[in-house]
Amino acid sequence: MTIQWFPGHMAKARRQVTEKLKLIDIVFELVDARIPMSSRNPMIDEIVSSKPRIVLLNKADKADEATTKKWLNYFKDKDIAAIAIDAQNGTGLKQITSLSKELLKEKFDKMAAKGIKPRAIRALIIGIPNVGKSTLINRLAKRNITKTGDRPGVTTAQQWVKVGKELELLDTPGILWPKFEDEMVGFKLATTGAIKDTILNLQEITVFALNFLKEHYPKRLLERYGLEELPEDIVELFDEIAKKRGCVMSGGYIDYDKTSELVLREIRADKLGRLSFETPTEYQEI
Ligand code: GDP
Repeated sequence: MTIQWFPGHMAKARRQVTEKLKLIDIVFELVDARIPMSSRNPMIDEIVSSKPRIVLLNKADKADEATTKKWLNYFKDKDIAAIAIDAQNGTGLKQITSLSKELLKEKFDKMAAKGIKPRAIRALIIGIPNVGKSTLINRLAKRNITKTGDRPGVTTAQQWVKVGKELELLDTPGILWPKFEDEMVGFKLATTGAIKDTILNLQEITVFALNFLKEHYPKRLLERYGLEELPEDIVELFDEIAKKRGCVMSGGYIDYDKTSELVLREIRADKLGRLSFETPTEYQEI
């Protein structure tokens, strides 16, 4: 699902998240491990500043392991709690509860000291579309989705999903918009499948992806497309891939759209292996 974001939609999304924040102790911010910065909402720090947060680098199964390690170190250096997970297969999910308990220990100790009955930690999953929010909620909820009913003082009914005894999630995630200002961010979102190809020019997305792969993963390109060497010129690379894969029209013309679709489909299906499209070095100063 790709939502077309307009200022009105952004304001509404923000309002909905702000309402949900009142109900919870901690935010789980879901990002794509392949593009942890480009898949964040640009205003996230401001929007959730009132709550502790854990950054969940999701789809880690699709990302370059070495780069994910660098990202985890990057967040650690900034004192931001972060975990790499694969919501689809359930990898890394156990750490979510233990880390939440650690981050909220002081708050819950204070509540206990005041004589407040112990309760489960309440959390909200938040992120841009397609980052894996529903997958994570379903995975954490397993089969025993328990509706614990409305909370007092809440006008709209919010359902809670139990995750073991110690954690409860709001069953509807907070959806925020991705960054739009930077064209490179758009290309990264499109390459990883976070936004529809039709939002940007298909061939331009592929030029970005091929240039990136040429620079960072040249061997994977050579192997995947059976090439002897990588041509300097990106159009020549396009042409060679097209010829290898039969994306040539009558008269010998290259079908660039077909080639683009093929390359992007293969990248997204991990046919070129696990890939990350940004590294912390680009963001060290931010
Ligand atoms: P939402 O819009 O944030 O709720 O995203 P969804 O939960 O609908 O997930 C979007 C797509 O990503 C779906 O096709 C999921 O199967 C896939 N997905 C979600 N999490 C993971 C993950 O950790 N690994 C992989 N490989 N795919 C995932």
